[in-house]
Amino acid sequence: MLGLMQSQQLLISSLIDFAERHHGEGEIVSRRVEGDIHRCSYKDIARRSRQVANALDGMQLAFGDRVATLAWNGYRHLELYFGVSGSGRVLHTLNPRLHPDQIVWIANHSEDQVLCFDMSFLPIVKAVHARCTTIKHFIALCDATNLPADSGIPGLQSYEAWMGNQAAQYAWPEFDENSASSMCYTSGTTGNPKAALYSHRSTILHAWAGAMPDALNMSARDSVLPVVPMFHVNAWGLPYSAAMTGAKMVFPGPAMDGKSIFDLIESEKVTFAAGVPTVWQMMLGHMQQGGLRFSTLKRTVIGGSACPPAMISAFNDDYGVEVLHAWGMTEMSPLGTVCTLKNKHLSLDASQKMAVRIKQGRGIYGVDMKIIDEKGEELPWDGKAYGDLLVKGPWVIREYFKGEGGSPLVKGWFPTGDVATIDADGYLQITDRSKDVIKSGGEWISSIDVENIAMAHPAVAMAACIGMKHPKWDERPVVVVVKKPGADLAREELLAFFEGKTAKWQIPDDVIFIDAIPLGATGKMQKVKLRETLKDYHLPTA
Ligand code: AMP
Repeated sequence: MLGLMQSQQLLISSLIDFAERHHGEGEIVSRRVEGDIHRCSYKDIARRSRQVANALDGMQLAFGDRVATLAWNGYRHLELYFGVSGSGRVLHTLNPRLHPDQIVWIANHSEDQVLCFDMSFLPIVKAVHARCTTIKHFIALCDATNLPADSGIPGLQSYEAWMGNQAAQYAWPEFDENSASSMCYTSGTTGNPKAALYSHRSTILHAWAGAMPDALNMSARDSVLPVVPMFHVNAWGLPYSAAMTGAKMVFPGPAMDGKSIFDLIESEKVTFAAGVPTVWQMMLGHMQQGGLRFSTLKRTVIGGSACPPAMISAFNDDYGVEVLHAWGMTEMSPLGTVCTLKNKHLSLDASQKMAVRIKQGRGIYGVDMKIIDEKGEELPWDGKAYGDLLVKGPWVIREYFKGEGGSPLVKGWFPTGDVATIDADGYLQITDRSKDVIKSGGEWISSIDVENIAMAHPAVAMAACIGMKHPKWDERPVVVVVKKPGADLAREELLAFFEGKTAKWQIPDDVIFIDAIPLGATGKMQKVKLRETLKDYHLPTA
């Protein structure tokens, strides 16, 4: 017997409809590329999202066509979040920090039809547009007066001219909630970048779970600052959870330095902020230097890399701000665990509480997880046994876009490439990474890409790229090199060889010359052994 409840598809358009109707006056504040502060409301965002949808219809874009963005966090990007997905197209948020060649590869792979970009990314668009073979329309996120006359980009239009005169009415289409809504490429795996393709259903369920009290605890009383970029896993779902709860949104634009972020928190009475540890380190440094205090900030979610315990205590003890240490992945929309205390922890002393808070946290409802040993046997939740971490749930991918990399699932579970323990209370702690990648300031560096570039140098016989701990960036790459017999190669020469072949920040910080790289039985480089050999090494940049 079926239940007798209405079956309404879970669509992203319903979020902005809700925000408009119930929180129409709710504020959206953005620091713009132009440098000024822009203010509008959910009512404005809703109307302009519908205008975007009309403009996309006018371009004859089909259902499921990809619309790409190269944009900072701001109100126009938010309008595209709702206008593109709400009208049945797929929002593809490109990462502007990548090398132009990587951007071209990704845009062509995703077959983007439209590219909307912030003016600060004009140089990138100039460098890539001729090679992006599927993009038919280039839209600069500015008004007509700021549009450069001589960009050399064919048919370039300003966003305001493109959507500003469109009708404010639009009937959001109804379709299957499993339809694709947005996509994000990740280099957090080996091989080419791969895309997680989110659906309307996965996005809404994730936003719902993310807003819950034991997750990010969002409400209409919050003023929310996502420092985490909207091009990185939909800013951890915050734009959707904010519309669902009617929270005020504050967008930092391109200004991510400590002073700009602190000033915005104070001027916009931010209660909740989200970002990777590197961003908070810059902000705490600025505050410590100036003897500054927060007046409204209550909590901050920190994830993307392990949050250093000293950062948790600085926020908590020095500034009275609760840190929600969280773990997730692009492939998980991204939320998997958030560290909030249980009732039994409340009576613990400060150091015992801290021992809980430094963990990555408890699984939120909707994400199931387990750890397994090399034979695939499930390990106990005792806080000691560590193994490969697997997850499943309605906002975890089942495969990558276009089937890249084959089926990633192991008996229905997604292998995260992280190694973890889980304790008896269900708190996850990441202890290591089995995937061969490096994360610097919240962004991936593919060790394989670095190795391939080094190997292309005529004096290099073998190269291994490994991540080394760095106080600001969490990890930085170094390349360990075996020279060809009789070859002469200096550190500086090899580092110069990387110039122009990869993004500047992906170039290794150092070269270590070594006689031999340890190899396993199958000839694979044994990086665990290599790291062990180099355990006393200190980065020159640290
Ligand atoms: P991304 O797909 O870029 O969001 O990166 C996801 C990966 O970042 C995870 O698989 C982890 O390796 C790492 N990561 C994310 N959050 C944390 C955290 N709180 N602690 C340690 N590693 C993390």
